[in-house]
Amino acid sequence: MHPHSARRMASIGWRDRFVALRNLPPLLKMVWATSPLLAGGGLALRLLAAVVPVTALWVGKLIIDQTVKIISGDATGSISRIWLLLGAELALAVLGDVLGRCITLCDSLLGDKFTNHVSLRLMEHAGKLDLVSFEDPAFYDKLERARRQTSDRMGMLALLASMLQNGITLVFLSAGLVWFSPWFLVVLVAALAPVFLGESHFAQLGYSMLYRWTPQRRQLDYLRFLAASNQSAKEVKIFGLSPYLIQKAEELFSSFYFENCRLAVRRAAAGSALNLLPTATYYGAYALILQRTLSGSLSVGDLTFLAGAFLRSRTLLQTMFANLTNVSEQALYVKDLFDFFDTQPTVVSKPGAIPAPRPISKGFEFRQVSFSYPGSSRLVLRDVSFRLERGQKIALIGENGAGKTTLVKLLARLYDPTSGSILLDGIDLREYDVDDLRREIGVIFQDYVRYDMKARDNIGLGRVEELFNQERIESSAQKSLASSVISGLPAGFDQMLGRRFEGGVDLSTGQWQKVALARAYMRDAQVLILDEPTASLDARAEYEVFQRFSDLTRDKTAVLISHRFSTVRMADRILVLEDGTVLEQGSHKQLLELGGRYAELFELQAAGYR
Ligand code: ADP
Repeated sequence: MHPHSARRMASIGWRDRFVALRNLPPLLKMVWATSPLLAGGGLALRLLAAVVPVTALWVGKLIIDQTVKIISGDATGSISRIWLLLGAELALAVLGDVLGRCITLCDSLLGDKFTNHVSLRLMEHAGKLDLVSFEDPAFYDKLERARRQTSDRMGMLALLASMLQNGITLVFLSAGLVWFSPWFLVVLVAALAPVFLGESHFAQLGYSMLYRWTPQRRQLDYLRFLAASNQSAKEVKIFGLSPYLIQKAEELFSSFYFENCRLAVRRAAAGSALNLLPTATYYGAYALILQRTLSGSLSVGDLTFLAGAFLRSRTLLQTMFANLTNVSEQALYVKDLFDFFDTQPTVVSKPGAIPAPRPISKGFEFRQVSFSYPGSSRLVLRDVSFRLERGQKIALIGENGAGKTTLVKLLARLYDPTSGSILLDGIDLREYDVDDLRREIGVIFQDYVRYDMKARDNIGLGRVEELFNQERIESSAQKSLASSVISGLPAGFDQMLGRRFEGGVDLSTGQWQKVALARAYMRDAQVLILDEPTASLDARAEYEVFQRFSDLTRDKTAVLISHRFSTVRMADRILVLEDGTVLEQGSHKQLLELGGRYAELFELQAAGYR
């Protein structure tokens, strides 16, 4: 075993588990908030159900005592009383059954509601988090652990509730036991304590193991996805990857299986050994009660009541201890859920943030902006300074990895600069309300999303408030030249796109790009950013798209990233990025005259076409 994981295992001790129990109240609050009616109803029914067993036992004792009296010729015995008592016993049995079913019903309805509620809250919280979070593997581990909570945690709550019910039953039963001998209860608890401690210990080991295995489980999920998904099918077939993927998955499965198996075997062995004590105790007590009955100090009814009460108490205590172990184990998992909810975004609007300017008067200014991605010290952008005037179009060029996309992400405030500042109309971007700011920026990234939804939704999502505005969707499609793609689809705008769902039609990369571009037009933002949106279009289509783009956005501020000089030269100003710094900037003409890197690259590409 890895030394670190050993420490990790040892580190979840009793204290941590106790601390984890603190997560129960907020969880209970969440359950209550999901449905006070179902939660309260379930609780009330359980309280009622709690008194049924002890009442039934007592009625049983009365029946036996009456029977013994009649058989032994005691004049105080009454047959009609026995029938009455039997009727009561029957009624109790029916009541117990009905209550049990109602409780299960309440639990399952509440469980569904709660699972949905938590899933929605997870989606909601994930939506608030920084882009940075989504680029961090530790974040995915956390998300994965939190996700698993949504379906599993309801069982724990049912356990908690049944613990409460059992607790009340136990109080009644013990009242009977204490009446016979106060020591009985003490002995019972003492005999069960080691079982509880043992169970707890193994539960904690189990949790540590699953915790450590989160990355591997995600890896397994990923392998399963690669082995069977439409996105990977092509390469998997061509490269013949299937056996390799299966073998990797198998390795993971079996190492997990062996570790789990070792723990399970140890758990079973320890459990059997520790359970000998409570079993022996039960039979010892039984012998004692029998002896007293034989000597005449207890009635036969007392015997059945006590033996029954003792047996039930033992089972109840055992269940309660097991449940407690379970609950405190699961409380550890609940902690993961709340850990996820505690992850806070850093790119947020500060209190009193101002709305984005409408219209933008001056434009953007980068002032000595440097940036390194979280978790890395390498500066991806270094001392970048430039202006983007209102209504201007600038183009960014540079080799792969030069920092173009990063620069654009900073402009849209998906990240904040590590040092330096970005100003909009002379005010730092961080002063603006971030949602409001983003409303004014339309971006289509290189890795834009292909939504497996209808064509109209693929466009409408650019401005979700206008999702049903057919006119706007159509005009956006026209602007991006997507309308020619859509008119060729069997169901037009109502055509399902992508291969994920029934009846979906896949598009070519270039066609998808036009649809994505329509999304940017849909937005009608003051600033448009296109990050190689036309890389997959042929030269003529790209030229057409950009002609339209510059016609349609005459008064708009725009940033273009492209490798094609035919496009780049349309920009008012061109920034040549190299290794995170601005190497040259100026118009196409100026840069050619300068005879620097731009001129060199332009010559290269021109030569390629000659
Ligand atoms: P370009 O758009 O010019 O191709 P990018 O801005 O995408 O360049 O990338 C610039 C550099 O930043 C690259 O070296 C890349 O490896 C790094 N980088 C990009 N995205 C991330 C990220 N999410 N986390 C860490 N490094 C990144």
